Amino acid sequence: MATNLKAVRGTRDLLPPETDLWQKAEATARSVFARYGFGEIRTPIMEDTQLFARGVGEETDIVSKEMYTWEDRARAQSEKAQSLTLRPENTAGVVRAYIEHKLGETGQLQKLFYIGPQFRRERPQKGRYRQFYQIGAEVIGAPSSGSESPLRDAEVLEMLATLLNELGITDWTLQLNSVGSSSDRPRYVEALKAALQPVKAQLCADCQRRAETNPLRVLDCKVPEDQPIIATLPQIADYLDTESKAHFAAVLAALDACGVKYTLNPRLVRGLDYYTRTTFEFLMETGLGTQNALLGGGRYDGLSEMLGGPKAPGIGFAMGEDRLVLTLQALNAEAAAQKLDAYIAPMGEAQNPYALALAKELRTAGLRVDMGDGSFRLKKSFEAADKVARRIVIVGEDEASTGVLTVKTFASGEQTKVTRAELISTLKSL
Ligand code: ATP
Ligand code: MG
Repeated sequence: MATNLKAVRGTRDLLPPETDLWQKAEATARSVFARYGFGEIRTPIMEDTQLFARGVGEETDIVSKEMYTWEDRARAQSEKAQSLTLRPENTAGVVRAYIEHKLGETGQLQKLFYIGPQFRRERPQKGRYRQFYQIGAEVIGAPSSGSESPLRDAEVLEMLATLLNELGITDWTLQLNSVGSSSDRPRYVEALKAALQPVKAQLCADCQRRAETNPLRVLDCKVPEDQPIIATLPQIADYLDTESKAHFAAVLAALDACGVKYTLNPRLVRGLDYYTRTTFEFLMETGLGTQNALLGGGRYDGLSEMLGGPKAPGIGFAMGEDRLVLTLQALNAEAAAQKLDAYIAPMGEAQNPYALALAKELRTAGLRVDMGDGSFRLKKSFEAADKVARRIVIVGEDEASTGVLTVKTFASGEQTKVTRAELISTLKSL
């Protein structure tokens, strides 16, 4: 076979030093989740296709055109052929697991987070891939556990503001809306349908179809020519019933109390069918270009029942980790190339064992260390060290026997003799 094998279109290898940023993002997220009482859930990457058809919605872009679905053959008499799908998102899987493991019967509010790959057949571009990663969380439980409380919506949003803040990301805007509940939304959908009848012929082909099958999706349309017409359509805020209005007002009051800034966006309906009441997105000013939605989420009070489970209101979000890393890169390009504390350069093969023992000692002390090789000439060692480390530690014949080492700091050009006892504190100093 003559052709070169490459990563599949829309998928990519993540390599160092970029993976340092992925680790930083994940470590910060895990630390924040722990402080807010979330535990980790890991669901399978493949699920029964029905889960997404029912949970995400047949009419969504995801289910209608973006899923990787295949017919999985039976391997034994006891098995049936089954339609499987690589998960395009993780909320449906989490709710399936909630139902399957009867987590609602604990009476406790479930606070679960996940980090992992998702798959959608989209047109690949910056910030949009066919295998991408999400960091997400869900708060779900029986109504008696307080899962319907607006306090939960506000807590999730405040946690996201804190997480971004801890990552040094400040130029986000939180866009918020309420899309109503199963009791008030149908009235709005009717009004929307009626308002769409006279204008729908002027909209894009997708919207003409949506106007019949799922009018809310029209609000989500990205086609520029459609926007002036969409701007004239009725707004959901005018159709919320008293309960939904009070719920939304309580979310806003709690956000105000903890100083989380937001912008109301009456058109924000989000791309998935399961949302009720609070919906939100965090948009970025810099780093992402047109793919500027860093994360999205909302409340899904009816999802569990749609999947055949008990009543289990919930709220969650999914953050695009690929986009998060792009944002971090744009903010702090040099952080991506954080250098090692030291590079140990043995001056001859005889010093190799000493160098390895020294590296072990420094690494045990928490320092980040790499090594050259006794076969390298001095010049080569210096060049290699300068690329990857802040300092070089030279291990010559003398150094190994006397325990006095030569240390050069590249930034200042300073070169000093350091005893082995002082070495760790020297390397830890700036
Ligand atoms: P978009 O409008 O950008 O297509 P979406 O509404 O489809 O986003 P969600 O399903 O809400 O996105 O997923 C939550 C987050 O996951 C998005 O805000 C984005 O950061 C990320 N995301 C979604 N699809 C992709 C993708 N194909 N590649 C990279 N990140 C993605
Ligand atoms: Mg999308």
